[in-house]
Amino acid sequence: MSRKPSQLQLSPATRAAQALHRINEITGAVVPDIALASTFARDAEYNPRQSYIYARDGGPTVEHAEVVLADLDGAAGSLLFGSGMAAAVALFESLPVGAHVVAPNVMYHGVLTWLHRQAARGILRLTTFDAADPSALPRVLAGGDVALVWTETPINPNWDVVDIAASAKAAHAVGAKLVVDCTAASPCTTQALALGADMVFHSATKYLNGHSDITGGVLSTAKTGAEWDELRKIRTLMGSVMAGFEAWLLIRGMRTLFVRFERASANALRIARYFEAHPKITAVLYPGLPSHPGHAIAARQMLHGFGGMLSLLAHSGADARHIARSTQLFLPATSLGGVESLIEHRKAVEGPHSIVPDTLLRLSVGIEDADDLIADLEQALEHL
Ligand SMILES: *Cc1c(COP(=O)(O)O)cnc(C)c1O
Repeated sequence: MSRKPSQLQLSPATRAAQALHRINEITGAVVPDIALASTFARDAEYNPRQSYIYARDGGPTVEHAEVVLADLDGAAGSLLFGSGMAAAVALFESLPVGAHVVAPNVMYHGVLTWLHRQAARGILRLTTFDAADPSALPRVLAGGDVALVWTETPINPNWDVVDIAASAKAAHAVGAKLVVDCTAASPCTTQALALGADMVFHSATKYLNGHSDITGGVLSTAKTGAEWDELRKIRTLMGSVMAGFEAWLLIRGMRTLFVRFERASANALRIARYFEAHPKITAVLYPGLPSHPGHAIAARQMLHGFGGMLSLLAHSGADARHIARSTQLFLPATSLGGVESLIEHRKAVEGPHSIVPDTLLRLSVGIEDADDLIADLEQALEHL
């Protein structure tokens, strides 16, 4: 007897591996088709077929990727954008003018820069808090009148871990929404909506796609309704939807998401343990290490690996920029979550006003052989 997959309880890894596709019933193709049309002809009654009108609203391949993403996040719906920043900007654009937003004082640089700019223009009010201090969020929320709490976990570039359930409780107690940037955790290991977040955000450029060949962003929501419809409308009007080809590459990337994430997490843990006791390194910032201040929360909230992101602090006086230039395997590039390992001197990237320590090296650990990666870092540290 043949068993239809719908009769089985499938794990998220299985569903992602098949991209919720199985086969094209007409051709038997085991890979989803790609739809690149920018416009869609109406039927004989002059109605849109299957709701598709124009690609700036979305299209079949974008929608397919969104269904896979909503499944990964356990969401009522997902919306895909041409970059993570486009998704974040659309979200802030959906708030009333003057809305009060609360966000960490250290977090992904681009989103924080956008919030500061909008606050300077009087478009929204911004209060920042120290996400490493669990009492800081309730304190700023007591200030009142907060529409949205944006947070991130683990947070760039210290990888502090934010307790999503506690943050949701604190936000909801004052009638605010909680949106969590889970880019570095990915839905493989952290289910932000199940923990109480109203929305989860990912830069799809990173783990979700995993091959450093597209930019993309996604918002997934616990509830659909008027606010969600408004976000979709904003995406159409701003023209910030992902294109069909990128959506197809993203679907392809998501099929290997779980194995890539598992391997990157295992590699990062090996590297973190190795360099924790290294004479040229003063600290390893990785939520998977028991020495990390966020480890207890991470152990509860990151259920299938601590991810591939970690930072090394070289001893003071060391030229960390020089180490970032001396690796042969780690590529000296920004971004994260790809199959290839990257090393970055954050301070140089963020500029002189950045509060990131000059000795901090951010690693995005890929899926290469862990011994090769360790040997590469060792030879780079020899230059010190
Ligand atoms: C990359 C990134 C973003 C922004 O996404 P883009 O796709 O680069 O626009 C937001 N948050 C985090 C944590 C990121 O790593």
